[in-house]
Amino acid sequence: MSDPTNTDSTPSNFIRAIVEKNISQGLYAQKKWGGSPGDAKHHDQGSVDAAKIRTRFPPEPNGYLHIGHAKSIFLNFGLAHDFGGKCHLRFDDTNPEKEDEEYVHSIIDNVQWLGFDAISDQYFASQYFAFMFEAAKSLIASGHAYVDQQSVDEIRENRGTLTSAGKNSPWREHDRDYHLNLFEEMRAGKHKDGAMVLRAKIDMASPNMNLRDPAIYRIKHATHHRTGNDWCIYPMYTFAHPIEDALEKITHSICTLEFEDQRPFYDWLLERLRDNSLLQDPLPKQYEFARLNLTYVVLSKRRLIELVEGGYVSGWDDPRMPTLVGARRRGYTATGFKLFAERIGVSKADSWIDYSTLEDAMREVLNQEADRRVAVLDPLKLIITNYPEDQEEDCYVANHPQDETRGKRTIKLTRELWIERGDFMEEPAKKYFRLFPGNQVRLRHGYVVTCTDFKKDDQGHITEVHCEYNPDTKSGTAGADGVKVKGNIHWVSAKHGIHAKVHLYDRLFKTEHPGSQNENYLDDLNPHSKTTITVVLEENCWEVKPFEQYQFERHGYFICDHNSTKNDIQFNRTVTLRDTWKKPS
Ligand code: ATP
Ligand code: MG
Repeated sequence: MSDPTNTDSTPSNFIRAIVEKNISQGLYAQKKWGGSPGDAKHHDQGSVDAAKIRTRFPPEPNGYLHIGHAKSIFLNFGLAHDFGGKCHLRFDDTNPEKEDEEYVHSIIDNVQWLGFDAISDQYFASQYFAFMFEAAKSLIASGHAYVDQQSVDEIRENRGTLTSAGKNSPWREHDRDYHLNLFEEMRAGKHKDGAMVLRAKIDMASPNMNLRDPAIYRIKHATHHRTGNDWCIYPMYTFAHPIEDALEKITHSICTLEFEDQRPFYDWLLERLRDNSLLQDPLPKQYEFARLNLTYVVLSKRRLIELVEGGYVSGWDDPRMPTLVGARRRGYTATGFKLFAERIGVSKADSWIDYSTLEDAMREVLNQEADRRVAVLDPLKLIITNYPEDQEEDCYVANHPQDETRGKRTIKLTRELWIERGDFMEEPAKKYFRLFPGNQVRLRHGYVVTCTDFKKDDQGHITEVHCEYNPDTKSGTAGADGVKVKGNIHWVSAKHGIHAKVHLYDRLFKTEHPGSQNENYLDDLNPHSKTTITVVLEENCWEVKPFEQYQFERHGYFICDHNSTKNDIQFNRTVTLRDTWKKPS
């Protein structure tokens, strides 16, 4: 059987093309990307193996990873893997108030789950705090940074607008020693949060707002999850990130498009620090790609936190959540994400990917990976009136219709069975080929039966259906094809079947772009995104284990939930066999 993700060549994209070109130019052929003075003095990166590309995936440990992050993980780790380089998992922990070790652990877990090494090249921005502090001082000393004592409002006001230049801070031209001294005071804890900030001194009239003296250090009397109370000043992300890249000898620093306007600052900063002899050429380069925008979900950590904290879902790993922990519990697989990442590609143009593209990838992978089982989700009793009460017999069922090597299992046929309520109609609709009085269908893997009767309760609900079987038609025997029927329905023995719970999940939001029509995206939550039903599973499911995945024939793909126990078997529906959300064409 062919593996849909085992493509001979990973589809190319513009970043891949850049890497290929850089390699062919021999950029990494010499030991150019060896250690820098910064490396040697302030932390021990060891000597960095040259002749290799280096990428990084830099999550901030302030939430759980989501499906968008998977795109970035496959891109960064994938490039490193394919070109024999390395990808650093770097935690961008520059914002102590929002970050936590719990998130660090889950991120490591997620990256490993997607199939990558999250341990060997693991870094934390906080390990460079000492270097960053020195770097900031060197910028002050070379006249490229100053401590601004304007209030937050004044700073905002004097920043100017897209059409008008900003105003220089009155503190900008004080002498360097004055600023160095103040910065040391900031570091020593002599000033309150927000009293002053360190700013890069660039150009308050620049058309690029990011170059109008951006803040690079702020005061925050906060305990950091790794450095504790060592610091009361913390670098801004835009200052920290390029330095981390340079110290780690990253060759291709790949980020999403919203950082495009930051690139001039990225380069400005690294060049100044090189001129100050803190870093060495060659310096890393930033490349931007379009982030993943997926319909019917929200992919912003802030919103995901709101969903969890507001109780709209049961937690980060609620199977409806677009987090990787949620997706995993839902039954989405790493191989499915790989296929999805390959299909959507990497480009510079922002676009929306329809959620069905993700579901299709999962279907395709699960179709190959998952063994089949029979489950009746909406049970209705079927009685074979000419089948002896104490009789039962084995029916042989392939575990996978396209893969004989996975063997067969037996299911027992008995006089009383469960079938789907939808497989019987008192008055058949047009083109309805399943059970109705007088009609014949095949009980999959069993016999052809003829519907003879049915019963109703006082409210008019159908309570049981009667039929007679034709003993000459057993599947797999010589006479099986003797009687031709159009309908083919699944069933589970009432005597041997197992009662279980199935959680039917649907999309968390009912609109393509949550929040685009309504003021509040929460108003777009799909009220029917979770339904729990009691079902009957074939007897072979009696010792099913959490995380086992099956296709329930004719229904879709299901995964045994991690809360499932022998006495309380629970499955989550991953995805239906066919897309039920397709717009009518
Ligand atoms: P969010 O916007 O959800 O808060 P973030 O960008 O702040 O996410 P980070 O932890 O900073 O989250 O992200 C780590 C990396 O993942 C970054 O390099 C970022 O560019 C990338 N990333 C985040 N969201 C997406 C997305 N939707 N598509 C592709 N890459 C993404
Ligand atoms: Mg971010």
